[in-house]
Amino acid sequence: MSECTKAFIFSGPPGAGKGTLAQLCKQKLGWVQLSTGDLCRKHISEGTSFGKQLDFVIKSGKLVDDTVILEMVTEWIEQHIVMAKAIIFDGFPRTLVQAELFVELLEKRFPQLSMQIINFEISDEILVERLVARRTCQNKKCQAIYSVRKCSSRNPKIKEICDLCKSSLIQRVDDLPETVIKRLQVYHQHEKLLLNYCEKQGFKIEALNVKQSIEKIFDKFVELVGK
Ligand code: AMP
Repeated sequence: MSECTKAFIFSGPPGAGKGTLAQLCKQKLGWVQLSTGDLCRKHISEGTSFGKQLDFVIKSGKLVDDTVILEMVTEWIEQHIVMAKAIIFDGFPRTLVQAELFVELLEKRFPQLSMQIINFEISDEILVERLVARRTCQNKKCQAIYSVRKCSSRNPKIKEICDLCKSSLIQRVDDLPETVIKRLQVYHQHEKLLLNYCEKQGFKIEALNVKQSIEKIFDKFVELVGK
């Protein structure tokens, strides 16, 4: 039997810092990250026919069709699994149907993935404040995340410029206040069903308090799951 590859589902509301922690795991541990949100945005910016269907859904804060997401995820795993030390699923699965389809996929095609869920815990009030202040690098290959909150540890060194690749920073259309509230409602609608199902499937679920600095969150995460 082939060796196991560690895989983590980062589960948590938008703005909880899933993408930021995943970036640190990439930089410091050499892991790979699948962000379904990034994948969707890449299709949109490249103007693929698939991207044209997704644009409206994302702008409205709703979720993309489950089977479409699963197709993208399957293709991505196939391309990355061989070289991956560990994989982070950021923002997937997001609904009960996605979780059911994912479990089926793991059993049939990727039994070597050893799954664990990291549940990001934080209040909605803090999230709204964070999301509205979030800025993202517009370079689709980078997509680093910053904040324009005063004295945040994630302020860019130069205003509105990415520290890493020097591209401009933008505010995502779905980080506008009214869409943020819609996205949080959608998240909470699916959260419990999803976690209950995963628990029944025997996935280990670890809670991670993300109301602290990203450095402390990273240390706590490493302590929880090991390198
Ligand atoms: P994110 O960057 O993870 O906050 O995702 C941004 C948007 O992409 C979401 O509001 C959805 O419209 C879409 N999206 C990302 N991941 C998924 C998913 N697993 N299922 C359905 N829609 C998704």
